[in-house]
Amino acid sequence: MRYVILRDDDTNALTPVDCLETLYRPFLDRGLPVNLATIPEVRTRATTPDGQREGFLPREENPAVEKVPLAENRALVDYLQANRGYHIVQHGCHHDCFEFDRPDRNEVTRRLALGAQRLGEAGFGEVRAFVAPHDKFSAVAYEEAARRFPVISSGWFEWRRLPAAWRWRYLLKKLSGRPHWRVGESLLLSHPGCLLSHTRSLESILPAIQQAIHRQKVTVLVTHWWEYFRDGKPDAPFIRVLHDTAGYLATRHDLRVVAFGSLNAATATDAAPQGSAMNATVAAQR
Ligand SMILES: [Zn+2]
Repeated sequence: MRYVILRDDDTNALTPVDCLETLYRPFLDRGLPVNLATIPEVRTRATTPDGQREGFLPREENPAVEKVPLAENRALVDYLQANRGYHIVQHGCHHDCFEFDRPDRNEVTRRLALGAQRLGEAGFGEVRAFVAPHDKFSAVAYEEAARRFPVISSGWFEWRRLPAAWRWRYLLKKLSGRPHWRVGESLLLSHPGCLLSHTRSLESILPAIQQAIHRQKVTVLVTHWWEYFRDGKPDAPFIRVLHDTAGYLATRHDLRVVAFGSLNAATATDAAPQGSAMNATVAAQR
């Protein structure tokens, strides 16, 4: 059995319900879980590392409002609560640029706690995974996130950013060629880049996903809802690729689409003789 985790980044209090519904109804109707890396209290002027306005924000700025907690969008919260196929993942706190690439432990813990509080106020108190904005962590951010979350999902892990105590485990991971690893009680999952992106040729996306899934036991597929609605209009051909992906995932009997939070249980019940990649990784590190 192989496992796939779909991770959609950047849902926030300003995200229109219609966008998520358009993208994910085919997943929800097929019982495929969708992990939403959700910004707990979005900064309305958040920028990308190159200084552009973030694509998940409305095009029109509202200078009167600096930050918006998720709970303020009642329609969105009700929608997410009503559709249990959505699984909320904490995505930073305000989604400031490189928000968790900072050395100040107090500030890191303050943002982790405030983010958790804002998600809790929206009714999402049992969040089991963390995604840092722009996939960037400092060493103290890794430590503090691992203290709070059973799963950390990131694009990659850089030796020089890791806490010193983690580095030998990282070496073992590198030597074994495995994409995922574990420190203490936390699973550290990498992903093979944003395969579901409008910057790729559309016809190459599904084959790239199939290859990635074939290469490893557990694959995290990352996408961004707002990429399908650039300029305020739905990109129908790109949306079709996403829906074709749902069809593919639903019909393969050797694949199981899971939420981050159920990954341990899912891999533990994998009866394949060689064990899952995750179990093998854990065993190698004991
Ligand atoms: Zn993000």
